[in-house]
Amino acid sequence: MATRVVVLGAGFGGLELSTQLSGALPDDVSVTLIDRNEAFVFGFAKFDLLFGRQNLEQVQSYYRDIVKPGVQFRQENITSIDPVAKRVVTDKGTHEADVLVVALGADYDFSAPPGFPEGGHEFYSIEGALKLRDLLPSFTTGKVIIAVLGEPFKCPPAPCEAAMLLDEYLTERGVRPVIEISVVTPWGRPIPPSPAASKAILDRFAERNIEWTPGQLVTSIDPGTKTASLRDGGTLPYDLFLGVPIHRVPAVVAASGLAVDGWIPVDRGTLATRFPDVYAVGDVTSVGVPKAGVFAEGAAGVVAERIIAKIRGGEEPTPYGGLASCYVEFGDHLVGRVDADFSGPTPTGPFAAASLETAEEKKQFASTRRQRWFGYEG
Ligand SMILES: Cc1cc2nc3c(=O)[nH]c(=O)nc-3n(C[C@H](O)[C@H](O)[C@H](O)COP(=O)(O)OP(=O)(O)OC[C@H]3O[C@@H](n4cnc5c(N)ncnc54)[C@H](O)[C@@H]3O)c2cc1C
Repeated sequence: MATRVVVLGAGFGGLELSTQLSGALPDDVSVTLIDRNEAFVFGFAKFDLLFGRQNLEQVQSYYRDIVKPGVQFRQENITSIDPVAKRVVTDKGTHEADVLVVALGADYDFSAPPGFPEGGHEFYSIEGALKLRDLLPSFTTGKVIIAVLGEPFKCPPAPCEAAMLLDEYLTERGVRPVIEISVVTPWGRPIPPSPAASKAILDRFAERNIEWTPGQLVTSIDPGTKTASLRDGGTLPYDLFLGVPIHRVPAVVAASGLAVDGWIPVDRGTLATRFPDVYAVGDVTSVGVPKAGVFAEGAAGVVAERIIAKIRGGEEPTPYGGLASCYVEFGDHLVGRVDADFSGPTPTGPFAAASLETAEEKKQFASTRRQRWFGYEG
């Protein structure tokens, strides 16, 4: 009998896990990969949508194109997870698992802080990025604030990338001299584990006249007066407010009893939850690495090795290391790379300076994933 592996969520983590299991054990596993969406979109493609570089059709990879021995994709909305019985209920039926892997990512709470639902914009969801893309052409003068509204948040460089790409976009439109751009973040520097990447970003900010307000959190906005209130009691005026929304686990995870203090705790080395044969990978966990696709992918590889070792026998797989390379868009087609290492007590992040070569490398990164996960060329 094939081992029934039910994978919840077909993002970076779920796609990588299903791919590795199918490659290693095509006849010995029966993988059911479940996602409510019909297509996968890379997180960084939100910038392509926002700045009109690509349309939605161009950034979607359809799950119906997955052809992998032993893997069945189901487009279903997961409505309950029982981690003890390893039973999952969706809008279309019930799935029983021998091994359950939760890779449901992070959702957003758009209802906070006060004023944000009425007067704020965001680029962290596809809908938000498309709405903002349609609004940006009419924004011709004033002040844009890009503010992180809570921690943790996906892709630590993304607010700074948004500022540098917005600078490029407004410069091309000829309106940059009459628009101010400001980044407000609770962090002290753009990418905490990488002083070199942080310096390069702040140098670019200085060169491009992008204002940097560290150590601050926006606690509310007033859409009437167009004022953002800060944690320290100060205020900032704005004309366009872009918030990095507050993140949380999907509601179905919160209701399952898997989460503790907001996220799913897992063993650092194995990604096992406290429920036998239930693993969790990626943004939905509190494993202690940044919320980014490249980390979710690495964690999925470790879980795949553990499932393979359990079925085939053999040595204990190498524990999860927390290493990943993250690309950072600087604008003007330049991309840098942070080689983040969270394996030791102090995370580190050597930096490869922004260049056209690294921009090409990022394209290759996306292309190899599309090839491996969906079988697409190019
Ligand atoms: C603007 C932006 C830029 C980014 N840039 C980068 C980058 O350059 N590099 C990088 O590595 N990361 C980047 N990220 C972050 C990256 O997108 C995420 O960290 C990554 O997708 C997390 O992978 P995951 O597998 O944990 O979850 P996800 O990829 O979010 O997958 C979770 C899946 O679960 C599904 N799901 C959730 N709830 C349900 C339900 N109830 N029923 C069925 N399905 C459900 C969702 O539809 C989703 O497909 C960026 C993110 C943003 C917003």
